[in-house]
Amino acid sequence: MKLESLNDVFTDLIRDLYNAETQLVKALPKMAKAASSEELRTAFEDHLEETEGQVQRLEQICEDLGIRPKGKTCKAMKGLIEEGSEVIEASGEPAAKDAALIAAAQKVEHYEIAGYGTARTFAQLLGEDEAAKLLDETIAEEGAADKKLTTIAEGINSEAAGDEDGEEEDETEEEEDGEEDEDEMEGSTGRGRSSGSR
Ligand code: FE
Ligand code: ZN
Ligand code: FE
Ligand code: FE
Repeated sequence: MKLESLNDVFTDLIRDLYNAETQLVKALPKMAKAASSEELRTAFEDHLEETEGQVQRLEQICEDLGIRPKGKTCKAMKGLIEEGSEVIEASGEPAAKDAALIAAAQKVEHYEIAGYGTARTFAQLLGEDEAAKLLDETIAEEGAADKKLTTIAEGINSEAAGDEDGEEEDETEEEEDGEEDEDEMEGSTGRGRSSGSR
């Protein structure tokens, strides 16, 4: 790989993301199948549909900018998906397994958000406004998918922790407060335990 300009870096990022997304198109159905919670399964299926659209956005960007999308392997996504496969193959309690699936999936979303965030910034710097706009649409979807997983995790984590009524648990005031901001960059286990909900 030869990097001589910001444009080269941008091109490499886009090809990395393209490969990452195509890997996810294959992995998400397996994640969905492995989920016990119907809500979680639906979330994976919905995100699969979005992911197919994200591949198309990257193809559009490549077509517009004369980038060859294929030919790069995103090793990071390969590793993250391998970690997901370990969970898929694991035996044990359904709620525990679902909690682990969510943890693996949120690592994927955060990796994508990092890659797309940089790509969008580079597109803006390079004056590629249409590409920046398309990347922004995907970032919004990845962010929403991450948030959705956090919401689903709230019920599943309490269940996995041995609380039978996990899903019907009353939210305390502390939990409702600060939810918006704090959830942004936290994983599914990033809160709740210390907020005195029981
Ligand atoms: Fe994606
Ligand atoms: Zn990568
Ligand atoms: Fe690391
Ligand atoms: Fe995603």
